[in-house]
Amino acid sequence: MAEPARRILLKLSGEALAGDAEFGFDEAVLRRVAGEVGQAHRGGLQIGIVLGGGNLLRGAALAGMGLVNRVTADQMGMLATLMNALAFRDCLSVFGVPATVLSAIPIAGVAEAFSAPRANALLDAGQVVIAAGGTGNPFFTTDTAACLRAIEMNADLVLKATKVDGVYSADPARDPAAQRFTKLSYDEVIARDLRVMDLTAICLSRDNALPIVVFDIDTVGALTRIAAGEALGTRIEAHA
Ligand code: UDP
Repeated sequence: MAEPARRILLKLSGEALAGDAEFGFDEAVLRRVAGEVGQAHRGGLQIGIVLGGGNLLRGAALAGMGLVNRVTADQMGMLATLMNALAFRDCLSVFGVPATVLSAIPIAGVAEAFSAPRANALLDAGQVVIAAGGTGNPFFTTDTAACLRAIEMNADLVLKATKVDGVYSADPARDPAAQRFTKLSYDEVIARDLRVMDLTAICLSRDNALPIVVFDIDTVGALTRIAAGEALGTRIEAHA
């Protein structure tokens, strides 16, 4: 059993929100994930959330057409994460969970600006904080934003939701011999080029001793169980 966590940062990719459709929103997924967050929140866990935007737009793919500048395309990608954040905030409210969106790209009347003191005050007051707009900078990812916001919010753990039950030595969908890791060090992730998160996110976590748990979004009660210290998924930290 790992040390129990009091405050976590949940990273959900945009793809996860789309379910099998890969674009937009899947009602069943939204209901289930919002229900999970609600259960963990009622159990007393303090929760920050960073959502991706890949279910709506990915900057590099749009820029790849050669018509939209990469900086512009990434700004659009960050706005996609804000759209997801607004949707998920409302989903949470259906489940009785109070949540506030703080955005790296604030929009008057829509979402206030992210700041660490504001995020921490809201978490202390029992709100879920959804940190939107990525890092606010092009050429970064929402995985990096998740680790950055986790550090700013003094989270004990980043929980990265995926469609598989942890980190494997190869893609388990393609290679039946792929092995699942229960623990990894940051340096092993980098040396083996495991692509759990981009290198910026892994290095930022390593430099700030922020543990990451990669888990299957379909596991019932995962947030509560991982926060309690149960060894679900793959745990990445300094000494694996
Ligand atoms: N993005 C960005 N800076 C950030 C975070 C995100 O420019 O700090 C843009 C980038 O274009 C990216 C898009 O937002 O493709 C959506 O984020 P991401 O691809 O990380 O979402 P996910 O794959 O987790 O759904």
